[in-house]
Amino acid sequence: MNATAPLTADHPAIRDPDALYFLPLGGAGEIGMNLNLYGYRGQWLIIDCGVTFGDDAQPGVDVVIADPAFIVEHRDRLLGIVATHAHEDHIGAIPYLWPQLQCPVWATPFTASVLRAKLVEAGLAERVPITTVPMSGRFTIGPFDLELITLTHSIPEPNAVVIRTAAGTVLHTGDWKLDPEPLIGSPTDEARLREVGDEGVLAIVCDSTNALKPGSSGSEGDLRHSLTELIGRYDGRVAVGCFASNVARLATIAHAARAHDRDVALVGRSLWRIDKAARENGYLADVPRFLTEDEAGYIPRDKVVLICTGSQGEPRAALARIARDDHPNIALEEGDVAIFSSRIIPGNEKAIGRLQNALVRLGVEVVTEADHFVHVSGHPARDELTRMYQMIRPRIAIPVHGEARHLAAHAELARACQVHEALVIENGDMVRLDRDGAAIVDEVPVGRIAQDGKSLLPIGGTVLQQRRRLGSDGSVVATLVVDRRGWLAAPPQISLVGLAEPSAAPVTALRDALADAMEGLPAPLRHDDNALRDTARRVLRRGLSGRFGKRPLIDIQLVRL
Ligand SMILES: [Zn+2]
Ligand SMILES: [Zn+2]
Repeated sequence: MNATAPLTADHPAIRDPDALYFLPLGGAGEIGMNLNLYGYRGQWLIIDCGVTFGDDAQPGVDVVIADPAFIVEHRDRLLGIVATHAHEDHIGAIPYLWPQLQCPVWATPFTASVLRAKLVEAGLAERVPITTVPMSGRFTIGPFDLELITLTHSIPEPNAVVIRTAAGTVLHTGDWKLDPEPLIGSPTDEARLREVGDEGVLAIVCDSTNALKPGSSGSEGDLRHSLTELIGRYDGRVAVGCFASNVARLATIAHAARAHDRDVALVGRSLWRIDKAARENGYLADVPRFLTEDEAGYIPRDKVVLICTGSQGEPRAALARIARDDHPNIALEEGDVAIFSSRIIPGNEKAIGRLQNALVRLGVEVVTEADHFVHVSGHPARDELTRMYQMIRPRIAIPVHGEARHLAAHAELARACQVHEALVIENGDMVRLDRDGAAIVDEVPVGRIAQDGKSLLPIGGTVLQQRRRLGSDGSVVATLVVDRRGWLAAPPQISLVGLAEPSAAPVTALRDALADAMEGLPAPLRHDDNALRDTARRVLRRGLSGRFGKRPLIDIQLVRL
């Protein structure tokens, strides 16, 4: 079988009645962009469909998603999407990919609320059928017998999915930690996990984010004490940056603020969206209504805590605008403090550094994880992973939701927990699972797609390659107007973009060199458009490299009269 073999009806994953297939198209070997497929008796189920974020290598691209080509090709065998929880890396791609997938979605109430709001924005609200499943719900989709188990994480309603088939049971954990005091929602349902373990679990597909971290991730309950003590030290404005989706953290901050007689305001649109979804589903019931940023402006400095978006240094979010002194309602100054109650997502170090420097320049004190206990992770550290293996006792472990080093460390830990087989896989590896074990039986094509303005573009495709080149080397457009016989009918026009200051007027020499080369061409070549273009390109390339030391994109416009 090769990498491009289509999944025809005689493919083992279709006709093999004795095995369950696992195939990640995204999220194995990376943290983000989760897209997991399970196949059984020729039917496929997607668990999670999320995004990851663009970086400096893709200028202009905010969001990147897994290429769903494999499952789009087999859409007639796709039963639907089950969402484990409402984080962007698990549901964020549904609005982008649904027009290609066109399948129903199953989610618990809070996740369904968040997803619905996204679908409204995408104009898909009326089209996507969403079935709301209660917490701990059991339901079937085609040949898959499914059960949700309540976990804890950094957003309400994180679920593991138990997938029961005659070929065996898989526990797909989604994102989780063990928090005895999560503050929002119930603690991890360890009793049910142990019962499922007793039933016998063939394989666990498990979160690897913190597989390199010793100990435990820590409890939201402990954080409440620490943040309460910290906020008590200040008598200026307190701004706290955190992920909008971390509803428990909003509650933690609200309680800490109340202990010091401060009101809490939300600053940033995504916080209000989450607040709405949370309250709609009965969360934050004991937290008073948050103030708007408008209202916050009228409150004495020592009577307010501002929860702000933008802890990752996003330039358009609240914290960055405040740091630039460019926020319509909120200003921070000497004597105020900004607490970063979140981790640094790898890749965001520079942006966060810029943000923190700007705040410090305003005279604002910056407090991070490095200074004080201000954050707990939502993912299991090594002690928690060990406990999960003790409860589930799977025969096979497949680490996902981690980079290569996290997956390797997780696999080693699983083996140390007496797991028979630990399989480190990559996106596109099709894993066959049956009672005898696990094997990679095929490799399907995978890729990444960028959401770029209103289009979806392949990463590595021409558009983004050109954009990178434009960003680093600029571009040149040369227009050649020639008569029927191929002689120049006017001097060549050359315009440079992103190469020289307008006042430098450096194109004369280039234009002369181009004209000389055109005039010097033998007659047969002058009739050949491609030869004219190639010659022009060659002359320009040489001239630009000599003059600027750059290799810009070159576009030749040829007009034949
Ligand atoms: Zn995740
Ligand atoms: Zn998550």
